[in-house]
Amino acid sequence: MRRNRRVKIVATLGPASNNEAMMRRLFEAGADVFRVNMSHATHDGLRDIHAIVRKLELEFSRPIGILVDLQGPKLRIGKFESGAIRLTEGDVLSFVRREGIGALGRVHLPHPEIFQAVQPGHTLLLDDGKFKLRVIDASDVRIDAEVMTSGVLGSRKGISLPDTVLPLGAMTENDRADVDYALSLGVAWVALSFVQRGEDVAEARKIARGRASVMAKIEKPSALNHLKEIIDLSDAIMVARGDLGVEMPVEKVPGLQKQITRAARNAGKPVVVATQMLESMIYSHAPTRAEVSDVATAVFEGADAIMLSAESAVGKFPVEAVETMDRVAMEVERDPLYEAIIHAQRIGPEATGADAISAAARTVAETLNLAAIICYTASGATSLRAARERPAQPILALTPIPATGRKLALVWGLHCVLTDDPRDLDDMVAKACRIAYQEGFALPGQRVIILAGVPLGTPGATNMLRIAFVGDGSEDY
Ligand code: PEP
Repeated sequence: MRRNRRVKIVATLGPASNNEAMMRRLFEAGADVFRVNMSHATHDGLRDIHAIVRKLELEFSRPIGILVDLQGPKLRIGKFESGAIRLTEGDVLSFVRREGIGALGRVHLPHPEIFQAVQPGHTLLLDDGKFKLRVIDASDVRIDAEVMTSGVLGSRKGISLPDTVLPLGAMTENDRADVDYALSLGVAWVALSFVQRGEDVAEARKIARGRASVMAKIEKPSALNHLKEIIDLSDAIMVARGDLGVEMPVEKVPGLQKQITRAARNAGKPVVVATQMLESMIYSHAPTRAEVSDVATAVFEGADAIMLSAESAVGKFPVEAVETMDRVAMEVERDPLYEAIIHAQRIGPEATGADAISAAARTVAETLNLAAIICYTASGATSLRAARERPAQPILALTPIPATGRKLALVWGLHCVLTDDPRDLDDMVAKACRIAYQEGFALPGQRVIILAGVPLGTPGATNMLRIAFVGDGSEDY
C-alpha cells in the first residue's frame, strides 16, 4: 500500500476511535501515525492501542507510528466551595499558597513555583484564556491580580502564565511513569508538552536514551525565545496551536506557525502542524472552507505532518476527517504552484557528506526525471536529510530496523520499507530496484537513484550515490 501524497497525517485516538475496527478504517483512510494524548489515556488503554497498531502493521505490511503525547505540567487552580465564582472586571482575585477551599475573591493555587516566579505586571490566563488577569502584587504566599474579563470561573480550571518563566521541567512524575510505560512498549515518538527551554528536551532525551524519538511541542512564549536550541535538541517539533493561541494573541499564531515550520525544515527536523485543523468536523461531516484552507496552508508550507485532535478522538466523523485531510493534501500537492512554493523555502545543504549527497540526489533525480530516490537507512538519518531536500520524486527509505520505519512514518515524503540489509553492492542495487517496482514507485525501464552509507549501518555515513535501471521485479525480497 502506498500513499499518494508526501505530507503525513497524525490522527489522535480517543473514545470515538480507539478500537480495532475504527483504527483500521483510519489507517485505510490515510492516518500514518496514531497519537495518544496522555491527558486522557491510561496505561491499559495505551497497551491496547499499541497491540492493535502492531496487528495493523502486519495486516498492511506497513510501519505505523505511535506518538505518545505527555500531559506535562498542566497548572490548575484549586476548588471553589460553590463549584464556581463570578469574576467581574476590575475586581481583585487573590491566589493563595495555603491549602483551602476558595470563595469569592480568593482561590488556592497548589503550585509553589508560581509564587517564586511571578512578578507584578505579568498576565495570568485562566480556563484556556477565557479570563485574563494582571498581577498587581506578588509574594511567596499570595498573588493579587486584577480581573480584566468578567464571567463565571469554575473549580480546577487551568492557569497559564505567558510572561513568566517557571522553574519547572517539562516532565512531571506522572509523565515519567507514562514515558517509562511507553518505552517499555517500544513506541516511536514521545511528545513533551509546555517545553520552555532546551534543558526540558535534554531531560527527556536522557530518559528516552534513543529508545524513542522526542518531539517538543511549541506552545509557550518561552519556547519561542529558545526555539533554535529546542529544535537542535529535539527529534521533531509540533506547532501546538491550541495552547500557543492561549499563551500568545491568536493573531500571532499564523506567523509563528510559518516561522516554526521554516526553522524546523531548515534543521531537517520533522514538524507537525496541530490543533483545530478541521474542528467543525467534530460535529459536521463536511469541513468549512476556512478549515480546508488552513490544512492547505500547512501542506504548502512543507510541514511533515498535519494533525487531527478532537476530530478523530471524540468527533462524530473521524474517518471522514482523515479522508478530508488526505484529499486536500493530495490536491495541494498536485497544484501547479506547489513545487515552486515549497522549494522557495528550501535552504542549501549543510557542510556534511549526507547533505551534499542528498542535495546531489535531488538534483540528479530532477534533472534526469528519475522515478524515485531510494535511501538505505539504519537510524533514519540519511532519509531525514533526503526528505529535508523536499525533492519532487518520491523517497523510499529501506531499513532492516522496524523502529526506524515507525519513526519515519511521520516524515514528509518517506515511504518506508522493512528489508534486510543487502549482501553487497550488486545486491543493494538489485534490491532497491525490485522494491521500487514492487511498491509501485517505478516501472521496468525507468531509472532510480540510490543513496547509502557504505559500510551499511554506520549512522550519518552517507557516501554513495548510484543511478540504476529498474527491471521487471520478478524476484522476491
Ligand atoms: C495543543 O495545545 O495544540 C496541543 C496539541 O496540545 P494538547 O492537545 O495536549 O492540549
